[in-house]
This record gives sequence, structure tokens and C-alpha cells, in this order.
Amino acid sequence: MSKANLWPPREEIEWYPRINQDLCIKCGSCVEFCMHGVYSRQGDKVVVSKPYECVVGCEACKHRCPAGAISFPSREELRQMLKALREKYKLQ
Ligand code: SF4
Ligand code: SF4
Repeated sequence: MSKANLWPPREEIEWYPRINQDLCIKCGSCVEFCMHGVYSRQGDKVVVSKPYECVVGCEACKHRCPAGAISFPSREELRQMLKALREKYKLQ
């Protein structure tokens, strides 16, 4: 069996950053840092424009945010999410 068959469709995995716009100071650090193009500037805001390009389990940009504005699901939430999807797609 190929490895691809062991992973649920990416767009079913709700793993991506959220920006608290009340905290964001629009510094652009996350836009510059993420090599997957998850963030972009839209008008005067920085937004998560390509959430499903985010690498599942990565939280690197969160530590680059000077305002503490970026958050992710917890590890436990990720674990539960993946467990449910593996059951749904009969991957285990
Ligand atoms: S967690 Fe990693 S892949 Fe996801 S947006 Fe941040 S730097 Fe990019
Ligand atoms: S790094 Fe943080 S403060 Fe800077 S633009 Fe991104 S979310 Fe906003």
C-alpha cells in the first residue's frame, strides 16, 4: 500500500494557524517566515489565506509572532482529529 493511502485528505484536517486580529500588529513576520505561503497581506490586514498549505503539526510561525496573535489547535485536539479521520477513511 502506498503511503498516500494512509493519510486523510489534507482539507479534512483542521490544522492551520488562526490570527487574533485584536492582538496582531501587522508586522508581516509570519508572511515572510512561512515558506508555504499560508499567510498574506490583504489590505491593511494579515490573514491566513491558504490554510491547507500549512504543514500538519508545524507551529513554527507561532514562535515568530511578537504579539502572541497566532494560535493552533492543541496536540490533543490534533490527535483526536486524526483518530476520527483515520476511522472515517478506514486507515487503521
Ligand atoms: S505552522 Fe509552519 S507551515 Fe504552518 S503557517 Fe506556520 S510556518 Fe507555515
Ligand atoms: S507575526 Fe503576528 S503580529 Fe505579525 S503580522 Fe503575523 S500574526 Fe500579526
